[in-house]
Amino acid sequence: MGMGKSYSTLSDRLKSDRPEESFQDYKPRLNSTEAELEANRCLHCFDAPCIRACPTQIDIPQFIGRIASQNITGAAKTILDANVFGLSCALSCPTEVLCEGACVYHSLNKKPVLIGRLQRFAMEESTEKGIPKDNPAPPTGKRVALVGAGPASLSCAHALRKLGHETVIFEKETFPGGLNTSGIAPYKMKAATSIWEIDRILSIGIRIEYGQELGRTVQIEDLLKDYHAVFLGIGLGPDRPLPVLGSENPRIAARILGAVDFISRLKMQPSAELNPFLNAQTALVVGGGNTALDACRELKGLKIPRVALSYRRSESEMSGYTHELSAAKQEGVELHFNTLPTEYQPQGESIRATLRKTRISTDGKVELLDQKMILDTDLILIATGQSHLNLLSTHATRVFSGGDFANGGKEVVNAVAEGKQAAQAIHEVISHG
Ligand SMILES: Cc1cc2nc3c(=O)[nH]c(=O)nc-3n(C[C@H](O)[C@H](O)[C@H](O)COP(=O)(O)OP(=O)(O)OC[C@H]3O[C@@H](n4cnc5c(N)ncnc54)[C@H](O)[C@@H]3O)c2cc1C
Ligand code: SF4
Repeated sequence: MGMGKSYSTLSDRLKSDRPEESFQDYKPRLNSTEAELEANRCLHCFDAPCIRACPTQIDIPQFIGRIASQNITGAAKTILDANVFGLSCALSCPTEVLCEGACVYHSLNKKPVLIGRLQRFAMEESTEKGIPKDNPAPPTGKRVALVGAGPASLSCAHALRKLGHETVIFEKETFPGGLNTSGIAPYKMKAATSIWEIDRILSIGIRIEYGQELGRTVQIEDLLKDYHAVFLGIGLGPDRPLPVLGSENPRIAARILGAVDFISRLKMQPSAELNPFLNAQTALVVGGGNTALDACRELKGLKIPRVALSYRRSESEMSGYTHELSAAKQEGVELHFNTLPTEYQPQGESIRATLRKTRISTDGKVELLDQKMILDTDLILIATGQSHLNLLSTHATRVFSGGDFANGGKEVVNAVAEGKQAAQAIHEVISHG
């Protein structure tokens, strides 16, 4: 999309020649004729199920109706009134299981209205024409500190600014957006698009202090002294390691990465820094969730010839979405269900991984069988979950939270919805305090 120069300040923080730049969009933008035809399919259902399926409750039939009547700026306004991350969500939401999954066309055995792609059309078209800026209400004199500059805090800060409160975000990294910037698969959205959308969000007057980490450079007690309320939107912690015999060998350890770490490097670092991994002939991903499936599809997108997935349970027990699994299959990812790596050995420059067959016991536990397979691989990505911080002080009054940190890890749209809800709760507390 044509990104206006006026928003280029934050994007300048991105390094050039990042591997993610070579990825093509898997759901390309509709042109005006396609968008109008698709918009005219909407039945404008009474009690629209698509709205109920959207955590941010975007008035979907209204924005689609506005596209049909060629009021594209009006369509974008409807979207942004409910969800300030309207573009990021259009590109990254699992619409198949949210709004589009609920569309009444399914009950007619027809394909649902392409809500996500219409939302992308409205957001990109109107942005090129210039979306009117949101204005804050007159200052209330109340100050709110937010920790983490991911979608949860940014959505919360934006809603608070609209109400006239001062907001300052403390972020440990040097870029905003959290996983919206560094985690979303590049065939859905690139880091530059996330940062560009955040530039618009910040223009309401949200300040971010970069390089500030809660627990290290900032303490919650100090924030509570200086601000009327604190919002914690710090997401989840780093990838959880998987203890496997042999993984402590430094030669092997150098070729094992957490999947979220790898994805973040491919989105944020120059290709030169990833070269040893990009030259892999075979890669093994361990896990059964969406991060594991994203990692497999991204490795395929990087043209790594053989990508294998090992999941300790069966296909039907995977927590990853069915539509993502189907795409991974189509792209040629090799799937090894009911297997678990139990040993790594050096094999020349590569790793020889032993994958043991598993079975699930009657009480649901994973049991190892004697049967095994050997896989020689150059890279192993561990996608068995992220750690979850437990901050006891969140129980203090005047401390609020939302997003992955509070919900254990969901989607961008949930973080946006929870940030907005928290802003309302904070507003009620500080306005009467
Ligand atoms: C690999 C991957 C792919 C994903 N793909 C999708 C997708 O396609 N679609 C989708 O909707 N969702 C996806 N998600 C989920 C989505 O990214 C998250 O649900 C969402 O970003 C959560 O927002 P958040 O603001 O709660 O946390 P985060 O986005 O994690 O942001 C937290 C922020 O807090 C900062 N922080 C952490 N600790 C501290 C501290 N102590 N002090 C200061 N700052 C701190 C972090 O640096 C970060 O900027 C994906 C997640 C992953 C891991
Ligand atoms: S459910 Fe489908 S047809 Fe009905 S209002 Fe929503 S998008 Fe339109």
